[in-house]
Amino acid sequence: MSILARIKSFLGMEAKPDDKASKEEVEKVAEEKAKPKIGYVHLSGCTGDVISLTENYDILAPLLTEMVDVVYGQTLVDLWEMPEMDIALVEGSCCLQDEHSVKELMEVREKANLVVAFGSCAATGCFTRYSRGGQQAQPNHESFVPIADLVKVDLAVPGCPPSPEIIAKVVVAAINGDMDYLAPMMDLAGYTEACGCDLQSKVVNQALCVGCGTCAMACQTRALSMTNGRPELNEDRCIKCGICYVQCPRSWWPADRIQQDLGL
Ligand code: SF4
Ligand code: SF4
Repeated sequence: MSILARIKSFLGMEAKPDDKASKEEVEKVAEEKAKPKIGYVHLSGCTGDVISLTENYDILAPLLTEMVDVVYGQTLVDLWEMPEMDIALVEGSCCLQDEHSVKELMEVREKANLVVAFGSCAATGCFTRYSRGGQQAQPNHESFVPIADLVKVDLAVPGCPPSPEIIAKVVVAAINGDMDYLAPMMDLAGYTEACGCDLQSKVVNQALCVGCGTCAMACQTRALSMTNGRPELNEDRCIKCGICYVQCPRSWWPADRIQQDLGL
């Protein structure tokens, strides 16, 4: 089943040519169907993503308490056996030496209708890619990969962590069936290599950069600086969070898509 069909199925909507649901349709669906079941799975990372999620409680409280059922998640639900879920938010990359993490990720894919790579560690590996093992508690844990390297991912929400505003917008877009808003996240779902170098190869070198500086402002490690109106990368500072690429207003329109749209 396609990602679009799965989102439609999750929302209880019939497929429509314009991929949008009217407000009345969404309200009718919300009345008629049971609350969507949401799970939260934490793999390897710093837990910053869930902290960003909790920053949203004032925005998302009605949604989390009235419109969805949170059915799985450490500290959120007192349940050890993973249930069937409509959406699973997966935070963190997956350690290949951690049998429990690999098994849990496989089980999520089996039990959840939609799997969301939530945050840059899950989406691109982010700073966990640089782990080399040797930590006192788990010295053999040395290989951490984005979850899309192991299972099919439906949506990716990169961010180190994703901002509370982005999280709120994604959740509301999913509930409203706003495919236009979700399309970039669907595009990113299997794209696990986002880093500062992408700006050079996929935006600047394609003559798409407009010199807005958004990428440099978004980079939390100051790996990017603007030189002569274009971003310059200090690779030693880059943690491969992918935020610069995601925030760039020109990254959603790569040259091949522009050429396709223009019929070239
Ligand atoms: S350049 Fe900065 S924002 Fe871009 S991937 Fe590297 S650390 Fe992240
Ligand atoms: S965000 Fe994109 S368009 Fe803006 S300066 Fe950076 S690379 Fe150029």
